[in-house]
Amino acid sequence: MGTYQEMKKSVDAYYPLYINGKWVDGEQDRRMDVFCPANGEKLSTIAVASERDVDRAVQAAQAAFPAWGATPLPKRYEIIMSIYSRLKEQVGHLAAVESLETGRPVRVSQSFVSMGVEYFPYFAALLRTNEDGINSETPGVHTMVIREPIGVVGAVYAWNVPLLLNFWKLAPALAAGDCIVLKPSSYAPIGSMEALKLIADLLPPGVLNVVNGKGATTGQYVLDHPGIDKLSFTGSTDVGVSVGLAAAKRIIPATLELGGKSAGIYFADIPEADMPNAIQAIVMNAIVNSGQICAMQSRVLVEEPLYDRMVEQVSAALNGIQVGPPWQEDAMMGSLAYEAQLNKALSYIEIGQKEGARLVTGGKRLTDGERAKGYFMAPTVFADVQNSMRLAQEEIFGPVLSFIRFNGEEEAIRIANDSKYGLSGGVFTGDLKKGLRVAQAVRTGEMSVNGAPSRSMGGGAFGGYKASGIGREGYRSTLDAFCQLKRISF
Ligand code: NAD
Repeated sequence: MGTYQEMKKSVDAYYPLYINGKWVDGEQDRRMDVFCPANGEKLSTIAVASERDVDRAVQAAQAAFPAWGATPLPKRYEIIMSIYSRLKEQVGHLAAVESLETGRPVRVSQSFVSMGVEYFPYFAALLRTNEDGINSETPGVHTMVIREPIGVVGAVYAWNVPLLLNFWKLAPALAAGDCIVLKPSSYAPIGSMEALKLIADLLPPGVLNVVNGKGATTGQYVLDHPGIDKLSFTGSTDVGVSVGLAAAKRIIPATLELGGKSAGIYFADIPEADMPNAIQAIVMNAIVNSGQICAMQSRVLVEEPLYDRMVEQVSAALNGIQVGPPWQEDAMMGSLAYEAQLNKALSYIEIGQKEGARLVTGGKRLTDGERAKGYFMAPTVFADVQNSMRLAQEEIFGPVLSFIRFNGEEEAIRIANDSKYGLSGGVFTGDLKKGLRVAQAVRTGEMSVNGAPSRSMGGGAFGGYKASGIGREGYRSTLDAFCQLKRISF
């Protein structure tokens, strides 16, 4: 891992745009800096794509599409598997880079990047095994349904787990035979550029293009470009609405992976032997990526008899968490991703207290020693939270847990469902049947029972109900979402 200076050696001083198989500066030669949120220092500089650059990227993708879309499946499979090998070999490097630009511990990045690269063999396998049948219901007439690539995909994604989000889009797009224009978040684009450096030569020019810049400019140019045939977006629900509107205006499909405010439900019948796991699950929700995870179970619903004990034990555990930069070996939680994100999370401390919730631990910025220039925040617990409070209804995207009381299964389900979001969730109980009933009753895209990891390494539908989005990533249906289906009768 080493010092900051040592880690920084894995990052280039400047990253151009990547259009039509070439590294280019951008027609206006505009640039922006990228910072390390763990110490506030400039990490690198990226070229900023203008509207014309985005246009060139889309045109390059359009030009590459006929040949790429017609590439025989075994060849496409081989290329995707080569991409996988290159990336897998360099997970350590990519994780270190991602940690520098997001401020989190390297082992956390390692697990997200490792998870992400596994989507290449997953979609490559789907590509080879997705065989269609022929329907012959009417005598003498045969009907077959075939998949065709959709064309050019515009993919815009968030900064919190950038490489996982990138691979969630790139792997199915390539498997489907689509060309793609990627727009990473301007807060954390470097991991995507480093991954690109590793794989660029494996693809024909124009198949993969990367344009950087702010969302409101470069991102919007991608959304609005008439040459884009499908949008794939991961980010906030607010921007997701703009993506949906841009897609609606041109009648193109959009996959929307948006925000969340998920509930973890803890029944009083959790066996004593399972309590450490239950407590650990709550703690991990607060600290993984400093709570900047769309699927974070930030609403902790605890049944009345267990409530006080759970608040006390989770708070004690969070008090013992080492918070520090990626180059601090024993740090379990890093910084937040940038200053405004820290300030947003801190603003909820005042909001929560004004609403009448009880601040049990945390609630402040950490500025001592090495943390002086970074955007660090203490893991925070609010107790006596009502589900109607802003604390429980709004996505904070920081290390803030809201503990809510309930009595009985019905009330737990009602509170869990009383949210505009529906992305993730969990339930802990000694009664497996009850756990499964609750998992089915909560209107959300995923539920884990008794701490089972909800996402495996490659595969497993991920996506939201309600304002958490439309569509699923990392699943067999994802490939169809990157294709057009055609019916041919003969
Ligand atoms: P964001 O919506 O601000 O930005 C996401 C991406 O959209 C970035 O690349 C950004 O540059 C771009 N963008 C911003 N404004 C735009 C505009 N007007 N037009 C076009 N593009 C624009 O989100 P964020 O702050 O980067 O990420 C945090 C959010 O992402 C949280 O709400 C989190 O829950 C969500 N998220 C969801 C998932 C999921 O799979 N459901 C995964 C990760 C993050």
